[in-house]
Amino acid sequence: MRRGSNLPAVGTYNQTLVLDLIRRSAAGVSRSELAERTGLSAQTLSNVARKLVDEGMVVEGPPIVAGKGKPRTPLQLNPQARYAVGIHLDPAVDTFVLVDMRGTVLAHAEHAPRHTDGPQHLLATLARHANSLLDGAGVHRDRVLGIGVAAPGPIDVARGALLEPPLLPAWHNVTLRDDLRDATGLPVMVEKDVVAAMVGELWVDADQQLSEAMFFYYGAGVGVGLAVDATPVRGRTGNAGDVAHIVVEADGPLCHCGQRGCLGVAVAPERLIAEGVGADVVASPAQLRSMLGDLAQRAVDGDAAVSRVFERTAQSLARAMVIINNLMDADVVVIGGAMWSRIAAAIEPHLRRALAESTEITTTRAITLVGTQLSTDIAALGAACLVLDGAFTARPAGLMITPR
Ligand SMILES: [Zn+2]
Repeated sequence: MRRGSNLPAVGTYNQTLVLDLIRRSAAGVSRSELAERTGLSAQTLSNVARKLVDEGMVVEGPPIVAGKGKPRTPLQLNPQARYAVGIHLDPAVDTFVLVDMRGTVLAHAEHAPRHTDGPQHLLATLARHANSLLDGAGVHRDRVLGIGVAAPGPIDVARGALLEPPLLPAWHNVTLRDDLRDATGLPVMVEKDVVAAMVGELWVDADQQLSEAMFFYYGAGVGVGLAVDATPVRGRTGNAGDVAHIVVEADGPLCHCGQRGCLGVAVAPERLIAEGVGADVVASPAQLRSMLGDLAQRAVDGDAAVSRVFERTAQSLARAMVIINNLMDADVVVIGGAMWSRIAAAIEPHLRRALAESTEITTTRAITLVGTQLSTDIAALGAACLVLDGAFTARPAGLMITPR
């Protein structure tokens, strides 16, 4: 059941709305411009602005003189007002980032997980790495909003737990949110990796090009983060975005689900490598990354047979993108992920061509493929942005009182 807004919640909504406009503008925004863009009265806007300045979230920039009128004082974000930590749990490497309010990475660390460790030991290690990241950066903990964790699904959002991610056996059924909060003393949010990546892209999307978009995440598995009306789509249980069983190749390899040519198996890194080197390989996730990089280099260097492997993979990805585009009418595709960065140079030209030549697009605009705006590890950065987003993005849903 939905109920109307109450006054304190509206205050918060107005505050986050104004802060959102300020932080998306590098030069800052004046009070009069903010009033115009938000529709808030000058008095309300003035109160909101004063509160943001008092809290140290925004600062007044140097006055701008334009024409004969009164000089305008732009309000600018104070990026160091708050910080967030992001952690990406991946089969190959755990990545840790510390970001400021702009999503700028201030500190970054990678640690290879030891899959033989039990959950308690893994948790203690995560907490230690997060703490040492904060200590090393010299950030005051009072300004740290919390820790976001991105993990492969499926997750249990209500309990903040990882269920049974196939590639992270040691993490099965661990109540990560509460356990990591207890170990670090900081609030923790847990999100599926593809959703976190989409949240991160939306956070840094200054021009708001991604209001209807999909984030294709190509890592150890493939998944899609969706945005509708500039809001990440989580779904009922936080597990939206599993596209592994969309059939993209009629005669493709057999999937464990019983179908042939599912996207997950069609574009799996293992398949690319097996076809590229002409033999099945058994490799760890970290080895797969470097083997993919070597394979991509061979294609870039002109190996026609290897190039065809990437071309076929691109066609499979394009087919899935077109199907999702037709369903969502989301014509912008962001693509990235730990494995993608290794193969982008070899595959993106094929992918652009396959999208341009597709005759199955039923929406009225072509599909635009864009690279990620997030440096380093997308999901880790997305996880940190999750914390910022939770605190500082104005969404009408925040106006609702949630019945308990
Ligand atoms: Zn399948």
